[in-house]
Amino acid sequence: MKQSVKLIAGNWKMNGLCASLTEAEALRAELEKGPATCRVVLCPPATLIDRMGVALRGSSVEVGGQDCRAERCGAYTGDISADMLKDAGAAWVIVGHSERRQGYGETDAVVAAKATAALEAGLAPIVCVGETLAEREAGRAVEVVRGQVLNSLPLAAGGREFAVAYEPVWAIGTGLTPTLEQIEEVHRAVRAAMIERLGLAAATAPILYGGSVKPDNARDILAVPEVGGALVGGASLKAADFLTIVRAA
Ligand code: PEP
Repeated sequence: MKQSVKLIAGNWKMNGLCASLTEAEALRAELEKGPATCRVVLCPPATLIDRMGVALRGSSVEVGGQDCRAERCGAYTGDISADMLKDAGAAWVIVGHSERRQGYGETDAVVAAKATAALEAGLAPIVCVGETLAEREAGRAVEVVRGQVLNSLPLAAGGREFAVAYEPVWAIGTGLTPTLEQIEEVHRAVRAAMIERLGLAAATAPILYGGSVKPDNARDILAVPEVGGALVGGASLKAADFLTIVRAA
């Protein structure tokens, strides 16, 4: 499948205070010396979205949220809506991260509703899927991920900007990664499921790999067929590490 320009997204998770914006500023300064050949998105904690947008103004780096609620507003203490993320300056939002699916019991239906809300707010969702270690060891990785794509991707995504991130749960934050062949196998299955769900409109949306992407393995992973970019956790916190991954794309 022909791929468009790669997308490298950094997920800061619940890391980062105002002082951490120096990392975003350092990234911006490096990219001013030599522009990225890929798209770059940084997803800080919601409290930093606005200020990160200011810190990155004038650069090509986009800002995203890490989650949103499906409802637009209401009595949902502590939650944040897609409209609010957009209002704060976000262009993207991660939905269905395994830390949300596992920690908050988010089902595929909830993830699809969040992705729909994101699209309605004018955000591009990054829809995360991935098998657990038990599912992989049972030989069910492709089946599980296929089901997640079919049920988490809203029909509203057809013809819109979005990405799917394949993140094996057992690879997140562990330093473990699947083999390049395993990554290719799942990414091909993800592409087939995207097209089954949305038709050929989903033929070019990027499929990101996520799970222990580091400066020393990024180039190999990003060269795998159907890998359209990366969703990077730990290695997105330091500008130098993230930059190396961006330069590998
Ligand atoms: C993630 O949480 O999306 C992730 C990929 O984390 P890490 O890169 O730290 O494994």
